[in-house]
Amino acid sequence: MPRFAGTTFGVLFIFVCGAATGIYTMRGTVQPQFVASASAQQSDRPRPAVISPTKARADRDIYFPGTEDLRPDEMRVTALGTGMPSARPKQAAACFLVELGNGDKFLFDIGSGSHERIAAQKIPYDYLDKVFIGHLHVDHFGDLPTFWLGGTTMNRLVPLRVWGPSGSKPELGTEYCMEKMQEMYQWDIGTRSGVIDFRGGELQVNEFPFDAVNEIIYNENDVVIRSIPAIHGLDGAVSFILEWNDLKFVYGSDTYPNKWYIEHAAGADLAIHECFLPPTLLIKKQGFAPLEALSVGTQGHTSPEQFGKVMSIVKPRIAVGYHFYNDFDTEPEVRRRVRKTFDGPLSLAVDYMVWNVTKDDIKVRMAAKDEEVWPSPPLKEKIAPDFRNAVPISEFTLSGREEFREVVLPLYEEINEIYGTEFKPGL
Ligand SMILES: [Zn+2]
Ligand SMILES: [Zn+2]
Repeated sequence: MPRFAGTTFGVLFIFVCGAATGIYTMRGTVQPQFVASASAQQSDRPRPAVISPTKARADRDIYFPGTEDLRPDEMRVTALGTGMPSARPKQAAACFLVELGNGDKFLFDIGSGSHERIAAQKIPYDYLDKVFIGHLHVDHFGDLPTFWLGGTTMNRLVPLRVWGPSGSKPELGTEYCMEKMQEMYQWDIGTRSGVIDFRGGELQVNEFPFDAVNEIIYNENDVVIRSIPAIHGLDGAVSFILEWNDLKFVYGSDTYPNKWYIEHAAGADLAIHECFLPPTLLIKKQGFAPLEALSVGTQGHTSPEQFGKVMSIVKPRIAVGYHFYNDFDTEPEVRRRVRKTFDGPLSLAVDYMVWNVTKDDIKVRMAAKDEEVWPSPPLKEKIAPDFRNAVPISEFTLSGREEFREVVLPLYEEINEIYGTEFKPGL
């Protein structure tokens, strides 16, 4: 049964049988409810939603993270970054979360600013251990360090697994990038390893060839993920195809329209592809020179018209365009241009847009964000850190400590009294 705001309610079923109309819960008790009259049901008028003064609304138009069951055959996709390289309050840079009815969860890109949106999904971090990076632009993996190391303070106790493409030489590949990232964060790591349970600080990197064409890069638990080449920046940009339970999800990290996407994304249930601002808006709103706007907007990236062409061939059940500042004055213009070349189901994504996908239905809603979200408690029991990994602190720094024992000791006494322990202050 679905959980609403932490409480389990009976699922409401409407039984219409001749003249007998009633609302029943799973427990079989009849609830006094407002329902459509028989005459209204016989007319063309839509039936009013079931409304009760005391019960939760089952047919909500907004997704509240952490409150809905995922059906065993269902895929939920949440946009957690849909904007441009510079994150802004309304839109982080590229990041999409895919959750499957078998419990698996995958992050596709993790661009600047997306970590807070990931946190707002209220998912324990042990479940968020798989990140697929389409290319190494900072707007597609800029929040990986904070998600990786910050995740250790959000109670992730399993290693973080990262998949990403090779480049034309080792220094341009994901493995090299991750190695250097770990070197770069030695100070941060030094403050934690040997001090806390740091199992979540382990990074497992899986680099695969950037020119792999529809080759399997992940195959676990009946989920298969393939990589196809993309055309963007340098060698080393890819798109991903996830297949599970007869559902097909395609994620295009940045790319110029390309033959691999068109061939292998065909027939997707949900296909995401960049849809950049048109050159006219790049000039008007961002001060691009005309040639620069044409070059960036149609050669480096995919304009709305080009996006529409791609989708008109791919024919997904729903096409999702992202990677532009999506506002009241830009969305209609981008949509108008997409509609020149594509007339199928379309979402122009903003952050917190959610798609619930099954074989029978695709529901598109917005998610509510919880700005006061806290880390979920750890799923595993924490283990004592290996103190031998602790990085020593100099006598110089320690000599500056003001201990304030008169205020710290009572804190220890308070905890010792509650938990029956005998802890004493000290580093
Ligand atoms: Zn890029
Ligand atoms: Zn990008």
